Amino acid sequence: MTVTGRFAPSPSGPMHLGNARSALLAWLDARARGGRVVLRIEDLDRDRCRPEYAVAVRDDLRWLGLDWDAESTAQSRRDAVYEAALAGLRERGLVYECFCTRRDVAVASAPHGPGEEPRGCPRGCADLDPAERRRRVDAGERAALRVRLPAVLPAVDDRLHGLVVPSGDSGDMVVRRSDGLHAYHLAVVVDDAADGVTDVVRGDDLLASAPRQAALARLLDLPVPAYAHVPLLLGPDGARLAKRHGAISIAELRGSGIAPDMLVTALAGSAGLGADGGARPIDLVEGFALERIDRRPVTVRTDSSGLRFDAVNCG
Ligand code: GLU
Repeated sequence: MTVTGRFAPSPSGPMHLGNARSALLAWLDARARGGRVVLRIEDLDRDRCRPEYAVAVRDDLRWLGLDWDAESTAQSRRDAVYEAALAGLRERGLVYECFCTRRDVAVASAPHGPGEEPRGCPRGCADLDPAERRRRVDAGERAALRVRLPAVLPAVDDRLHGLVVPSGDSGDMVVRRSDGLHAYHLAVVVDDAADGVTDVVRGDDLLASAPRQAALARLLDLPVPAYAHVPLLLGPDGARLAKRHGAISIAELRGSGIAPDMLVTALAGSAGLGADGGARPIDLVEGFALERIDRRPVTVRTDSSGLRFDAVNCG
């Protein structure tokens, strides 16, 4: 089977250094194994995502020298596919309406950080009497849809972290929000399979989601990709890299005149990949092995003196 990696950006803002670093590692992993790369715009959340950011992400990726073999249909245009997946689960009695408030289920979007893993239904909607459920649906009450997940989720063998054992019972998964938007977990699982993705390389913030996504893939009879979660970049204060840490978007860095090769070299260096002078991604392919990257947390400083990455030594 051809190794197929992917870029799966959510165009809810400009691409930043952290996204670029994960994209570089995903690209190198696929290319070093003779594989393909698919680009998929994950714009499920119509309120937060904007087409101009999607245009900018493509442009930034090209500028960095990261190419892709195919772009799949953006998630905002795949509602019918997600509905079809849900219909199959529904027929098997695996989907139920959850009448908890929108606030309760807002966590259905991509969680980004420890402790942000979605929670199960807080009010026991799974066990509602069927007649009562029908009455509430017929009355037009807004409901999210949840999938009944097995009590014991599969452990995932992450290529970098080893065995990821699911932490406790995090409850049934929201697959469609009460406002009708399909949830990130459903879309990403369906689309990775549809795009033939064999290898998911993405940021550590999604590590805890992997067992839930693997469980959903199994319920849908879809192949479970291999996962590799790479370290996130941190701000100088040790918190996850964010806007307040300065000029961290690729657009800002481009504006400051940095050459793409220098940025790629710096990003590669932050993962322990030595490169002399300016390197294009293609120059880093030979001999690259994702398993050998430096996984120490890395802080980024961007100021008038330029861009600096420092590995944080733990312990
Ligand atoms: N679209 C998600 C993001 O940009 C990534 C999802 C994934 O890689 O599974 O954060």
